Amino acid sequence: MQIGIIGTGYVGLVSGACLADFGHSVTCVDVNQARIDQLTRGELPFFEPGLAEVVERNVTAGRLRFTTDTCAAVRDSLVVFVAVGTPEGENGEANLSQILAAAEQIGGSLREYKVIVTKSTVPIGTGARLSQVLAASAPRPVDFDVVSNPEFLREGAAVQDFMRPDRIVIGSSSARAAAIMREIYRPLDLPDAALIMTDVETAEMIKYASNAFLAVKISYINEVANLCERVGADVQVVARGMGLDQRIGPKFLAPGPGYGGSCFPKDTRAMASLGVHFGARQRLVEAAIAVNEHQRETVLEKLHHALGSLIGRPIAILGLAFKPDTSDVRESPALHLCRRLVTLGARVRTFDPVATPEALRALGPAGRTIHFANDVAGAVANADAVVIMTDWNEFRSLDMDAIGACMRQRIVIDARNVLDAARTRAAGFTYTGTGREIVSDRICA
Ligand code: NAD
Repeated sequence: MQIGIIGTGYVGLVSGACLADFGHSVTCVDVNQARIDQLTRGELPFFEPGLAEVVERNVTAGRLRFTTDTCAAVRDSLVVFVAVGTPEGENGEANLSQILAAAEQIGGSLREYKVIVTKSTVPIGTGARLSQVLAASAPRPVDFDVVSNPEFLREGAAVQDFMRPDRIVIGSSSARAAAIMREIYRPLDLPDAALIMTDVETAEMIKYASNAFLAVKISYINEVANLCERVGADVQVVARGMGLDQRIGPKFLAPGPGYGGSCFPKDTRAMASLGVHFGARQRLVEAAIAVNEHQRETVLEKLHHALGSLIGRPIAILGLAFKPDTSDVRESPALHLCRRLVTLGARVRTFDPVATPEALRALGPAGRTIHFANDVAGAVANADAVVIMTDWNEFRSLDMDAIGACMRQRIVIDARNVLDAARTRAAGFTYTGTGREIVSDRICA
């Protein structure tokens, strides 16, 4: 099938490459000429495990191409996916300017029947709005259908998630469009139960409800972790004990410095804003947002507790990406910490395996005083404390003896609980994890 993808970011590129891998013929469009040039040269604009191979394989096979020409891509496609950004707007609601601009461009290129699919995360009611814009922008009356097909991939595991999704959600009021969408995903050979065929509004709601639920789960375990720190319980064991209950499940029960990334922060705020707008306040989601904002400060509190004033203190931060296996730093708790530390007069030294260039761009002027090291040793040299902010696998097996030997003081704040607390203490460190430190002592005793 001929497919166009408007917006070649994380979701657009992964979707385009994987759909081409299913055997479809895919044209990925972006307004960012530099990004299209980069992709045409065979370079990826961001780090995502396994993606380079899928892109290369399908470009070589002639099933995947990149362009800035929306009109040609729409003309040549039966199905046009919209995967542009929906960043946070004023008062938390989603900013739909990219979606509406893309709809006008697609509408202007409509000459015959097409299926227009929103992959972007959009507020409930956007499908209907899109239909109006498409119809108004079309040069003459033309038949088309709008479908909602929200994306659930996780950065860092995006290819695997796209190829083996838990479910595919398709919202459509047209039998013709629904049949075309089924055909697109047929190569996945999904069981019927994993295919949710519904209306557009319900599909749009499933995405927000899912992301907000996961954010609530993270905020919940973070609050439990804070209580564990007061009462001497170990949140790692608590989370395991909870997660083995099949009604709860083990995922999204890892305590830490708060959630970040390009989805949860903006999607929870958009969901809360929808609740206010439609007179059905989402109090749990509002609470999860407030908890998350507080959680991002807890690392700073621990640093203050360990060091007192932070003015002039060299502090090493390991990890800048909002989670491992990605270079994405959008709303990363690590960047929030960097900014706070710079404001407080600390001397920040950092290392991330892949996210340094993106962090430099995102930090802007605040990044000028930060030292971006090429490795862990460069970041921790002469530091008064080291903070682990991203659970990259390589931080799980750090040689704490060697690290301690380079530091001015052996203090570690393990915001992701990746280190073995007992061994770290045995290396002479004052160890502070998230929701676990007191009991770890008891277990070791
Ligand atoms: P992104 O910012 O990485 O990519 C968006 C791309 O769209 C950019 O390259 C931008 O230049 C391009 N663009 C904007 N307007 C355009 C236009 N008119 N024509 C062509 N290209 C245009 O965003 P993303 O992370 O891929 O997210 C896209 C959407 O998918 C968002 O709604 C997001 O909430 C949702 N989503 C993201 C993830 C994720 O993990 N990143 C997962 C699921 C859903």
